[in-house]
Amino acid sequence: LIRVDGLRKSFGATPVLNGIDFGVDAGSVTAVIGPSGSGKTTLLRSLNALDVPDAGVIRVADETIDFAGTYSKADIARYRSQSGFVFQSHNLFPHKTVLENIIEGPVVVQRRPVRDATEDARTLLASVGLADRGDAYPSELSGGQQQRVGIVRAVALNPKVLLLDEPTSALDPELVGDVLRVIVDLAAQGWTMVVVTHEIGFARQVSDQVLFIDGGVVVEHGAPADVIDHPQHDRTAAFLRRLT
Ligand code: ATP
Repeated sequence: LIRVDGLRKSFGATPVLNGIDFGVDAGSVTAVIGPSGSGKTTLLRSLNALDVPDAGVIRVADETIDFAGTYSKADIARYRSQSGFVFQSHNLFPHKTVLENIIEGPVVVQRRPVRDATEDARTLLASVGLADRGDAYPSELSGGQQQRVGIVRAVALNPKVLLLDEPTSALDPELVGDVLRVIVDLAAQGWTMVVVTHEIGFARQVSDQVLFIDGGVVVEHGAPADVIDHPQHDRTAAFLRRLT
């Protein structure tokens, strides 16, 4: 469902991604792990064109862009619409209620009727244990509840792929479990997901593929039982040792 070839990105004179290649199967979960500053977030943002790569051909579901070639704003908009992005810290609109936050994209971008979008939003909220919080404002929710709303907001657009950037790293430890459970549920429903995470136990439990990134390249990728439990590269082993 996703194919990335030769992805490169620099910020000014600093190269961050130095030729990234990988694929993601439909219905699979890919966990992206690696040291701080290795380029994980930049990679994820490139899949949604939140960061625009300098080079590389990326296909996300039905849309392919050659970032070294020419492309229009409309091409980028179509490419972006293939995926939904969940930010490290939810990015909800503070002056809108939970329901208003969720229906914003479906109504404004997808031109769906407010009534339909609201009905779907209520169903999704119930599925993450927040049936009664639709009229609350984000500031009235815990960090974990806010992040579950952030996930629902991405899901409500019904993209082909969900991209999650360290979805639990801004949370107090006791709130992490509820958010991870929502992600596990989405995986069980067959959502294709790419998740940047520092939660190695979670990566082992939920992912079909682990990408270990270091220095802006994919050092190692494969099933979690291989990459996490039997790493082939010294850099992977050293990184995993530092976490335990
Ligand atoms: P972490 O685990 O700490 O979040 P990461 O692996 O996700 O790290 P990135 O956030 O992708 O790493 O950042 C990779 C490098 O790119 C870092 O050195 C960072 O300072 C730099 N960088 C990221 N975004 C920008 C930006 N907008 N402008 C300049 N430099 C940036």
